[in-house]
Amino acid sequence: MPNQNNQLPPSEEIITDRFIDQLEGDLPGPHLVFFGGIHGNEPSGVFAFKNVIQKIRDKKIPLKGKITGIAGNLWALQRKERFQKKDLNRLWTRENIEALNQGHFVPSNEDEEQFVELHDLILKIIANETGPLYFFDLHTTSSQSIPFIPVNDSLINRNFANQFPIPLILGIEEYIDGPVLSYINELGYVSFGFEAGQHEDPLSVKNHEIFIQLSLAFAGACSQEDMEVTQHLEFWDRKYGPYEHFYEINFRFHVDQKIPFQMMPGYESFQAVKKGEKLAIYDNKEIFATKDTMVFMPLYQSKGEDGFFLIRKTPEIFLKISSFLRKNKLDKIITWLPGVRWTSEEKDSMIVDLRVARLLAKPILHLFGYRFVQRDQTHLIIWNRERKSKYRDYENEAWFKG
Ligand SMILES: [Zn+2]
Repeated sequence: MPNQNNQLPPSEEIITDRFIDQLEGDLPGPHLVFFGGIHGNEPSGVFAFKNVIQKIRDKKIPLKGKITGIAGNLWALQRKERFQKKDLNRLWTRENIEALNQGHFVPSNEDEEQFVELHDLILKIIANETGPLYFFDLHTTSSQSIPFIPVNDSLINRNFANQFPIPLILGIEEYIDGPVLSYINELGYVSFGFEAGQHEDPLSVKNHEIFIQLSLAFAGACSQEDMEVTQHLEFWDRKYGPYEHFYEINFRFHVDQKIPFQMMPGYESFQAVKKGEKLAIYDNKEIFATKDTMVFMPLYQSKGEDGFFLIRKTPEIFLKISSFLRKNKLDKIITWLPGVRWTSEEKDSMIVDLRVARLLAKPILHLFGYRFVQRDQTHLIIWNRERKSKYRDYENEAWFKG
């Protein structure tokens, strides 16, 4: 490992450049883009990216394609704050993107400035690419946690993420509006996040380094040997093996920033909780678990709107059925129901009459890959990412075939 003694870099180290670093190989190949510090209080990914690039340079490791590291909220990273006024990872909403594309988005704070710059950069990367593109967003959490991958539910995402022997969390897009990787995933690319552990834990830097190296090997940019894949997988298997599953978010406790929220001390992600257990105090009222379940991402910092999530394991059979249905585009069956029709020519979204929607339970929509749900008075609009996924970009890749 480049980060031999597991030390966090000196806290004086200031991140000044949008490009953390970039390497290009002599042979063609994929382009892997890593974002670090989309939240300014999470510099671990930035340091890990530098360390891995250093290792590749020092050992003259052969590289196919390109690796790019991008600093997310540069303003906030320089001040070691999460963000100024707005969470940069909630700004990538349909409304904001539409306003940007039409040229009337006016940034009103530092975070929105960062959003505009990053959006520009992402479009440039996409426009200039020849090989398959991968985007990864490196984060850490306020509470202690084993590392995990929050993944938007498209088959390309699932298949690539499934190579990592750590928990994979599906369905975050239904609870969180506007993360950068949902936006990129909707453009059709493999893109997901990686949460490496607690903000200040030196192990988080090491886990970020492992994640970056595994990604480079899995995407075929570097060899398995050079990226020490066997050793890294063994290390993670030993530490996190029992948690290696797909999980599904089924509850989010929303926090209004103006109302005091206090998570009970001592909770970690993936911790089992019993029905009736006191989890938090919100607006001076006690909040209890309504069933036996698992806690996920409990909030232990002052800024944030997600108090905690509850999750459960996704059954294996569900994953198999859903991949069969999606590969065969059987979602057209849903449009045979009265009160349901496609809303776009690309057939990636449907409008559903609320009376019919009641018959369509959420788990059924999930099977078909419909995740993003928006409501008005009489209708639901549901979105599916499969038809936008750029399968052709990835169909010759080892992970796609295997
Ligand atoms: Zn974060």
